[in-house]
Amino acid sequence: MFGRRDAESRDADVVVIGAGLAGLAAARALAAAGRSVVVCEARDRVGGRTLNEPIGDDKVVELGAQWVGPTQDRVNGLIAELGLETFPTHSAGTNLFERGGRIGRYEGTIPKVNPLGLAEVGLVLKRLNGMAAAVPPEAPWRAPKAGSWDGQTFESWMRRNVRTGVARDILRLAIIGVWAAEPRDVSLLHVLFYIRSAGSIEILTDTEGGAQQDRVVGGTQLISLRMAEQLGDGVVELANPVRRIQWAADRVVATGDRIAVRARRAIVAVPPTLAGRIAYDPPLPAVRDGLSQRMVQGSVVKCMAVYERPFWRERGLSGAVTSVTGPVSVGFDNSPPDGTPGVLLGFLEGRAAREAMDLDRAERRRIVAGCFARLFGPEAADPAHYVDQAWAAEEWSRGCYGGFMPPGAWSDNGAALREPVGPIHWAGAETATVWNGYMDGAVGSGREAAGAVAAQLGDPVT
Ligand SMILES: Cc1cc2nc3c(=O)[nH]c(=O)nc-3n(C[C@H](O)[C@H](O)[C@H](O)COP(=O)(O)OP(=O)(O)OC[C@H]3O[C@@H](n4cnc5c(N)ncnc54)[C@H](O)[C@@H]3O)c2cc1C
Repeated sequence: MFGRRDAESRDADVVVIGAGLAGLAAARALAAAGRSVVVCEARDRVGGRTLNEPIGDDKVVELGAQWVGPTQDRVNGLIAELGLETFPTHSAGTNLFERGGRIGRYEGTIPKVNPLGLAEVGLVLKRLNGMAAAVPPEAPWRAPKAGSWDGQTFESWMRRNVRTGVARDILRLAIIGVWAAEPRDVSLLHVLFYIRSAGSIEILTDTEGGAQQDRVVGGTQLISLRMAEQLGDGVVELANPVRRIQWAADRVVATGDRIAVRARRAIVAVPPTLAGRIAYDPPLPAVRDGLSQRMVQGSVVKCMAVYERPFWRERGLSGAVTSVTGPVSVGFDNSPPDGTPGVLLGFLEGRAAREAMDLDRAERRRIVAGCFARLFGPEAADPAHYVDQAWAAEEWSRGCYGGFMPPGAWSDNGAALREPVGPIHWAGAETATVWNGYMDGAVGSGREAAGAVAAQLGDPVT
C-alpha cells in the first residue's frame, strides 16, 4: 500500500519537502546530527521565495527576499557561516511621499505630513507595540484579548481608533508593505502577533536599524545554493513535487513525480496553503486541514527598472518612496553595491498586486515605469531593462511575502500550525515564532523541526 510503484524509491531517516531556506536549514541540521535525509523540491532550483536574477556584468537583483536586519541572528549567522557578506541598503538622500497629487520629501521612516497626522501615527504605533507585547508568539490565541482582537480586521480597528485620513493612509501603507495584504484582509490579532514576533512595528518598517537594513552581496539565493552544495550529491531532488504523503505511527512515504522517499519522519517545509494541496493518507485532522484552508498567501509583484546610472542620487534623492496614489506603493534604490547600474525597486502590493499579477509583463512595465517617471522625472520613463515576478502566479508559491491569518483563524486553527501530525512535522517561515514570515524565521523553523525530529529518532546508528 505504501508508495507509488512507478516512482523510483529511496530510503532515508527523514524526508524534507521543500528546498527553501526552512527545508535546507532542516536538512543541514539533520545531516550534522548524523541523520540521512532526502529533500524533495518541486522546482528545478533551490531557494523557494529567494531568487537571483542576473542583470549583466555578473551582477544580480533579487526577485524574492533580499533584506536582512538587526536581531535576525539566525540568518545573519548562516550568511557568515556560508562565507557570504552583506552591504547596507542605499539610503543616503531624502525620501519621497506621494499623496493627493502632491509629492513631498522626508527623512527617516515616517513621511513628514501635517503635525496632527504625524502625532497620531506616533501614538498609534506606540499603542500597537503595547498591544503586541501581550501576545504570546507561540500561542497568539492565548492573548488576554485574543477573542476581540481576532474578531476584527485591522481595517475595522483602524476605523474606530484612527481619526485622521493621513494617519490611516500611512498605516495602510505599513500594512500592505509588511503583509502584502489590505488592512481589510488581515486579523488584528495577526498584525499584533507579527509585530511581537519581530520585536516592534518600527523594526518591521525601518531601513537603518530595521528589517530593510542590509542586503547580501551576490543575492540571497546564494544562501540556499551554498547549503544545497554542502549537503552534497543525491540529497536534494529537484523537479520532484511531492503529491502524496502516506503515513503511519513511525513511517512515512512521500511520493513525488520522480522519486518516492520512505522515511521515519517527514518535515513539510512549504507554506500552509501548499501543504494543504498535498494528499495525505490517512487524511490530516480537520483542524489542520482547516488551517491550510484559512491561512492566506499575500499578494505582491516585485518590480525592478534598471537604468544606466542611479540618476536620482544626483538630485539628493535616496530612491525610497511611499505612495498613497500607487499602484507602486513602496520603492527603494536597489542598485548593486557599487551603484552601477541604477536600479529602482517598486512593490505592487495587496489590491494593486491582485490587479496586476495576471497582466503580461510589458503592461506591468508600462505601469511601473509610469509611476517612477511621475516620482523621479522623465528619465525614469524608459528603463534599459525591466524585471518582475508575480509570486501568486507561481505554482510553488501561490503568493507572498507569506501566509497571514484572516479573523478567527488563529483562534480556531492556530494550534495546528506547528503541532506535528504523527510522523509529519511542519516548518517554514509561516511557522516561526521569531521573525515570522522572514528568512530568519524560515531558518529558525527548519532548525527547530530538525531538532524535534532528531530528538524523537534518538541517537543515530553509526
Ligand atoms: C517578493 C518577496 C520579498 C520578500 N522580501 C523579504 C525580505 O526582504 N527579507 C526577508 O527576510 N524575507 C522576505 N520575504 C519572505 C521570504 O522570502 C520567506 O519568508 C522565506 O524565503 C520563506 O522560506 P521557506 O523555506 O519557509 O519557504 P519557501 O521559500 O516558499 O520554500 C518552500 C519550497 O517548497 C517547494 N514546494 C512547494 N510545494 C512543494 C511540494 N508539494 N513538493 C516539493 N516541494 C514543494 C517550493 O518550490 C519552495 O522551494 C520576501 C518574499 C517575497 C516573495
